[in-house]
Amino acid sequence: MAHDFDLYVIGAGSGGVRAARFAAGFGAKVAVAESRYLGGTCVNVGCVPKKLLVYGAHFAEDFEQASGFGWSLDEAQFDWATLIGNKDREINRLNGIYRNLLVNSGVTLHEGHAKIVDPHTVEINGERFTAKNILIATGGWPQIPEIPGHEHAISSNQAFFLKELPKRVLVVGGGYIAVEFAGIFHGLGAQTTLLYRGELFLRGFDGSVRKHLQEELTKRGMDLQFNADIERIDKQADGSLKVTLKDGRQLEADCVFYATGRRPMLDNLGLENTGVKLDKKGFVEVDEQYQTAEPSILALGDVIGRVQLTPVALAEGMAVARRLFKPEQYRPVDYKMIPTAVFSLPNIGTVGLTEEEARDAGHEVVIFESRFRPMKLTLTECQERTLMKLVVDAKTDKVLGCHMVGPEAGEIVQGLAIALKAGATKRDFDETIGVHPTAAEEFVTMRTPVAG
Ligand code: FAD
Ligand code: NDP
Repeated sequence: MAHDFDLYVIGAGSGGVRAARFAAGFGAKVAVAESRYLGGTCVNVGCVPKKLLVYGAHFAEDFEQASGFGWSLDEAQFDWATLIGNKDREINRLNGIYRNLLVNSGVTLHEGHAKIVDPHTVEINGERFTAKNILIATGGWPQIPEIPGHEHAISSNQAFFLKELPKRVLVVGGGYIAVEFAGIFHGLGAQTTLLYRGELFLRGFDGSVRKHLQEELTKRGMDLQFNADIERIDKQADGSLKVTLKDGRQLEADCVFYATGRRPMLDNLGLENTGVKLDKKGFVEVDEQYQTAEPSILALGDVIGRVQLTPVALAEGMAVARRLFKPEQYRPVDYKMIPTAVFSLPNIGTVGLTEEEARDAGHEVVIFESRFRPMKLTLTECQERTLMKLVVDAKTDKVLGCHMVGPEAGEIVQGLAIALKAGATKRDFDETIGVHPTAAEEFVTMRTPVAG
């Protein structure tokens, strides 16, 4: 049967746009539906605006440190509305770029909410279109636990558009978003508390990294409260929020920001009209080729809940486009050695196994660690220290993991990820000449193990 399209993509986010553009480039007839914003979460309420706010927050330290280099400044003033206005303008520009990218690659763009009405038909703005394949790339949505008063809390979606910088912010959660936004609010001058329910935030990251960041944030004056959870939030007459913790303590804040994970975005998508199945956590279940239980429907990106990162959604989009329309070029996505950064202040950069994961997997490991004061800070009062760590397999000498907390950790770890993917050994690291004077050279000059 002839269909209107070879591929109908629902969601013009990181994964959907990549799949749509490449599929069209391979000669397929492709449509993409987008209900909210071109470019999806990453461009509009994720990676990009977040990184712009992190840059904004970093200036606080730059100004502080400048005097050590002979610069004198009047007291620095910060204006939230200017930062948000400039950020909005840049995001608008990027939306336009995404529109051009899609249209120029021959993809038909449908702006509106798409609903699947049968395994080959999508309804949007009252019209129905048929497709040989449908790709669900609808991403995720912030999840706030339904405690009494949760309606007074905000998520990352609102944080990017606050009218003013709150004076006192309580950030709840201990993952990427909580740690990054706590750094943004704190850097921009808000009195910031980070509240996490467990012993130590950033579960799943290397233990040394988690501890080091805890120490650095504490040094900077951020209030870290672990083993703490909110029971209820009450709005007071003056508009401020009274937060009652499960242990009975009470805190006051002007803004309570929840960053407690993201659920798949499946609202009114019409999955009940298909055979698509969900996994135990409610994400769309797919096989290794992104095929759902319904033969004509595929899914990728945050909605499948595998690794919720933009470069992973991009890689999955490329894999789907190739599998469907250029099978001779198909290569499965390799989920091992995915580098990642947390844009906290200071940054975390990490690739490969943590020390804990390596030991649990049965590796006999040798650990190299270096902690030092970055050279740039030696002329300043700042006592921040950088951490670098290598996890090495004692038997094969292979470097299993690289971890860093310090300036530009994300930038540094990208290159290391190539080395690890290529199977570099500690000897390869040792035989690599450093770039001097940099912090990154420390990764090739660590000679004495701290633990075996
Ligand atoms: P999305 O980008 O979420 O796109 C899904 C699109 O589908 C959306 O535009 C949505 O409007 C649309 N849609 C949903 N339902 C429908 C429907 N029924 N009809 C039509 N359209 C629909 N990742 C990183 O790698 N680095 C970072 O620094 C980073 N920072 C982040 C910061 C924050 C605050 C957040 C929230 C996320 C961050 N991420 C980061 C994660 C990253 O944004 C996601 O992993 C990525 O956007 C997932 O891409 P996706 O294509 O699966 O979904
Ligand atoms: P994460 O899954 O990273 O972290 C969620 C945090 O919330 C965890 O600390 C978790 O605790 C805690 N939590 C979960 N449920 C509750 C609850 N009911 N009450 C209290 N605390 C709770 O989610 P995020 O929202 O931070 O980010 C979503 C994803 O987006 C990330 O996992 C990442 O993949 C992506 N992202 C990537 C970024 C980057 O690349 N720099 C930046 C931002 C987001 P516990 O550990 O105890 O389960």
